[in-house]
Amino acid sequence: MTAFFHRQNGALAVEQVPLARIAAEFGTPTYVYSRAALTSTYEAYAAACKGRRARVQYAMKANSNLAVLQVFAKLGAGFDIVSGGELLRVLAAGGDPRKVVFSGVGKTEAEMALALSHDVRGFNVESVPELDRLNAVAGRVGKRARVSLRINPDVDAKTHPYISTGLKGNKFGVAFEDVMQTYRTAAALPHLEVTGIDCHIGSQITEVAPYLEALDKVLDVVEALAREGIDLEHIDVGGGLGITYDDETPPDITGFATTLLERVAARGHGHREVLFEPGRSLVGNAGALLTTVEFLKPGAAKNFCIVDAAMNDLARPAMYEAYHRIEAVSPRSDAAVTYDIVGPVCESGDWLGRDRALAVQPGDLLAVMSAGAYGFVMSSNYNTRGRAAEVLVDGDQVHLVRERERAEDLFRNERLLKD
Ligand SMILES: *Cc1c(COP(=O)(O)O)cnc(C)c1O
Repeated sequence: MTAFFHRQNGALAVEQVPLARIAAEFGTPTYVYSRAALTSTYEAYAAACKGRRARVQYAMKANSNLAVLQVFAKLGAGFDIVSGGELLRVLAAGGDPRKVVFSGVGKTEAEMALALSHDVRGFNVESVPELDRLNAVAGRVGKRARVSLRINPDVDAKTHPYISTGLKGNKFGVAFEDVMQTYRTAAALPHLEVTGIDCHIGSQITEVAPYLEALDKVLDVVEALAREGIDLEHIDVGGGLGITYDDETPPDITGFATTLLERVAARGHGHREVLFEPGRSLVGNAGALLTTVEFLKPGAAKNFCIVDAAMNDLARPAMYEAYHRIEAVSPRSDAAVTYDIVGPVCESGDWLGRDRALAVQPGDLLAVMSAGAYGFVMSSNYNTRGRAAEVLVDGDQVHLVRERERAEDLFRNERLLKD
């Protein structure tokens, strides 16, 4: 638990607000974010960047609520986006499109044109067909697109296979052996300007070693390109730094970022700008999902604690068998019982936590911790469940930053047949 989620007279609170107050006012399930927690992780990266040519591009797919983006935009962050929709969110949140980098393997022509019309800082390109498409779109709209290539350094990030992205077998990035030729191709295209290099090796990485391994390979490429007269302005080291969900011990953010910046400088590239693309490490521990116990269902093999949040609200356990700590908001003094914490969705995969010892009764509140990243953004309307409300706490203030969806919202765009 971060310092921003803490206990006040035994009851769980966020900053100066008891979670029970939020549940009483906004109901459950509700995502709760701490502005101070968001700010503190951003500042931890910014501290390493201070006095160097380096900046933070928030990988907003981790949590793209407009108010969260607004907090980071005000702090000076740029944004790493993976769709045209995300660019529109940056604009709606008051972010600067010229600080936006467009990543992702499947950009459409319309998305490229949209990004060019807002003069985004650049595109991380992942294949030759994508270079050709971007060149054509830029030519059509009369612009030059700034590009960096996302290279696949073939480094094992030692994380979950679904969130490992820098290995040969992954769909991401330009294969290492093709990188030089792909840069030559990019440099020869008239409507592209080659400005940088990018890599992103995975997510929830808890060691520095894979980053340094990838960075050394990236710097080898930078040097080989320089020898051919292709001089890159920036080096994007990707995101992926892990957080503590349970007992993981990821490196401290400032120390991690400093280590990478020092390696860049030690190899003689301190004049090039370094971009960090963190998602999870900026927002993961800044959020919790608040839920209410509906029923306790004892069983011969297992006891179930059925809550009002489900896999449609928080998909990570069902999708990656991810662990989230689950705490009673106001613990009881009764003896704890071991439960699987499950939702009401009609799937056996609908669980939030397994074998958790809790002393709870129906009506009690639970907090699913570390839910600020890949939580709400991956939620769905499965079982015609409206998506949760989101609130952002700032000191003693609670701001509703997304209303709970109502059933009518869910089928508004559907049409009945004529007969
Ligand atoms: C998802 C993603 C990130 C952020 O990853 P985290 O693990 O959330 O830090 C950064 N860059 C790219 C290209 C991504 O796709």
